[in-house]
Amino acid sequence: MRVLVTGGAGFIGSHLCDRLLADGHEVIAMDNLVTGSVDNIAHLAGERRFKFIHHDVTDYIYVAGKVDAVMHLASPASPVDFARIPIQILKVGSLGTHNALGLALAKGARFLLASTSEVYGDPLVHPQPETYWGNVNPIGVRGVYDEAKRFAEAITMAYHRIHQVDTRIIRIFNTYGPRMRLDDGRVVPNFIGQALRRECITVYGDGSQTRSFCFVSDLVDGMVRLLLSDEVHPVNIGNPEETTILTFAETINRLTGNAAGIEFRPLPEDDPRQRRPIIARAEQILGWSPQVALDEGLSRTIYDFEDRLAR
Ligand code: NAD
Ligand code: UDP
Repeated sequence: MRVLVTGGAGFIGSHLCDRLLADGHEVIAMDNLVTGSVDNIAHLAGERRFKFIHHDVTDYIYVAGKVDAVMHLASPASPVDFARIPIQILKVGSLGTHNALGLALAKGARFLLASTSEVYGDPLVHPQPETYWGNVNPIGVRGVYDEAKRFAEAITMAYHRIHQVDTRIIRIFNTYGPRMRLDDGRVVPNFIGQALRRECITVYGDGSQTRSFCFVSDLVDGMVRLLLSDEVHPVNIGNPEETTILTFAETINRLTGNAAGIEFRPLPEDDPRQRRPIIARAEQILGWSPQVALDEGLSRTIYDFEDRLAR
């Protein structure tokens, strides 16, 4: 296949490009580098089946030649960015998704939307099945991301119903791994960076809120399986192993040998209390389940952060 990956120079996007190339496909990565980096794809520079296009997908998307699949990952994803660049986030979720769907329609390509567990907001149903409609504050600071992704899901289904575009929607739960931006602001880069600098780890609130962390290779495998499946309705992909943020901080201190301890900071507005995917649909439809345990994935991520910080 010839696959367009929007957001291809980002954390997940660059791992997806690697996987698609390893599977024998041709890949075009498109990115405006707002939160991504060419460092993430520098190792692909000499690859004949890989091409990078520096472009903002909120502007009309032009790609010469055939395209078999559009995998639409372009969007900032860190809560720090929700406050910093809210209008860009709303635009890429709405105009960017419209343009990416338009390209898929014009090329007769399959389309996969990278959606998010944030469509469930601060969930009142726990753990979260795909049938849950969510609990989102539309005017809160996180609303720009949550509502952009909810709009993106809605327009994806509309293109499927009205234009018969062959669409897929993956709802991604917290994913981590090598190549996350060092100053991204999300919990994994923050905690690992602090621990490696032998600083206190900053836990927001009392740390009793929960998340479920999935290693990036598992996530990308689920994403590719979904693309190749026939499933039009949303599928959760995430690791159902749930941890409190306080326990997570202790785990990072243990794995890095950081003795500086933990410092508590105020909880950000609308921070979800709990999050854990029900992955029964992914297991049944895709034959997918996560393979990488948290300690192993974190060790690989810590190694990557050490390497980059040293450079
Ligand atoms: P990331 O910031 O590393 O990657 C996003 C990429 O999109 C970046 O390279 C960025 O430069 C690019 N981008 C943003 N706006 C763009 C635009 N207008 N035009 C072109 N490129 C643009 O973040 P990530 O964690 O790799 O997230 C990738 C996708 O997965 C996002 O859609 C995100 O919403 C989704 N997701 C991620 C997680 C997670 O835990 N990592 C969870 C849920 C959903
Ligand atoms: N968090 C924290 N300290 C940090 C960064 C994040 O305690 O330095 C918490 C944050 O409040 C949230 C959880 O970790 O409860 C996950 O935050 P992240 O920004 O990674 O993404 P989210 O899952 O909230 O979208």
